[in-house]
Amino acid sequence: MEISFLGACGTVTGSMYLITTDNKRKILVDGGVFQGEWEDLNHSSFPFDPYEIDYVILTHAHLDHIGRLPKLVKEGFEGKILGTPATLDLARIILMDAAKLQSEEFETQKKRNDRKGIETREPLYTLEDAIATMSYFKPIGGYDKEIEILEGVTITWRDAGHILGSAFLEMTIDGHKVVFSGDLGNRNKPIIRDPESIKMKDAELIVVESTYGSRLHKSIEESKEELLNALKETLPKGNVVIPSFAIERAQDLLYYIREFKEEGLLSKDVKVFLDSPLAISATNIFRAHKECFDDEARELLKQKRDLFSFPNLFFTRSKEASMEINNIKSGAIIIAGSGMCTGGRIKHHLKHNLWREECAVIFVGYQAAGTLGRRIVDGEEEVEIYGETVKVNAKIYTINGFSAHADQQEILDWVSSVDKNTKVVVTHGEEVERDALAEKLKELGFNEILKPKLKDIITL
Ligand SMILES: [Zn+2]
Repeated sequence: MEISFLGACGTVTGSMYLITTDNKRKILVDGGVFQGEWEDLNHSSFPFDPYEIDYVILTHAHLDHIGRLPKLVKEGFEGKILGTPATLDLARIILMDAAKLQSEEFETQKKRNDRKGIETREPLYTLEDAIATMSYFKPIGGYDKEIEILEGVTITWRDAGHILGSAFLEMTIDGHKVVFSGDLGNRNKPIIRDPESIKMKDAELIVVESTYGSRLHKSIEESKEELLNALKETLPKGNVVIPSFAIERAQDLLYYIREFKEEGLLSKDVKVFLDSPLAISATNIFRAHKECFDDEARELLKQKRDLFSFPNLFFTRSKEASMEINNIKSGAIIIAGSGMCTGGRIKHHLKHNLWREECAVIFVGYQAAGTLGRRIVDGEEEVEIYGETVKVNAKIYTINGFSAHADQQEILDWVSSVDKNTKVVVTHGEEVERDALAEKLKELGFNEILKPKLKDIITL
């Protein structure tokens, strides 16, 4: 059998690995979009015939792991898409949102380009393609149950502790034992459980992510402290804008702000806007998947408490309600997507608040190279938003401890439980990150560490 690496090589985006079994059956692990400087690759054709794919196995619902599925369906895929129930529920809203955003961006671009006489590239897929994709979704029974999908191919989904429903995969393929990490979670996050350890101790090969391959996170407690301090410092005079991923990070933030308010650390009068229809829908999906919750969250539910509500929290679904936030000059926390500021309502809020020195932007997630978020974090003095130059006068905070990803030590701990003769394939990280992780794995005594380039194939 062989594994082709069709994404997430030298980047954190575009996750997609193609497994071809000895009798030429084809299985994809994830089907994510490329983002930031790799984005153009989404438009090139797949190096396989989508019709020949029997299964897509999903690790979790982030767009960089599922965002090319509608393109796959549009181009002939007719197999099954397997994932945990929570992953598939999240995937539905994420794909619809992605399709809508693409068509909106297309219309805006087209207006601008038509004036200049430039051709505008068609979106990757339409809302109809995204909806069609869902008819191939087949939820699995849950974590820790081995299922046989083809003769000689079994899979067990284990809790990866990354986002709601996330999993790493333990597979046997033609007698070879292979583990795909998907994205591994950071320990001690609220709501969901910590990552499971690998049960397949005699794996022949492990494909592991390296998003934070060179770095250690601050603890969640320290990060909460930083968040609280940034809020307290800014809110009396300005607004706080938080670009946030709609899934997990937005719910984590609501969870922390609820705690701050309940503990009297933050005034109950502070207005909090969750200005993201996607994050609002995701919050409802969280409420429906209590089977993914950790002990602490279950305990709160037992006490009949709501994890995600508190005084002065506003869910703004409509455009009108969102635009009204523009009239507020101070005392508001605005949580909006997208998390890396590549699209969505966050761009409007940045346009209104980024130039004001009394405001703050708090980055609480990874910013990939080439994104607007990364440019702001890297300290650019002015950025372009919707064709306008906006000065970066607001105070910029970067709090990395809230990451949904394991840090270097957590990844090493996770991998280290297997035999040192296991081949370790390091993916899903920018080059410096995966080099650093590979170096550490070598120091730990792993004999064979591979860093595939895009389209490389490993044969077992
Ligand atoms: Zn992820």
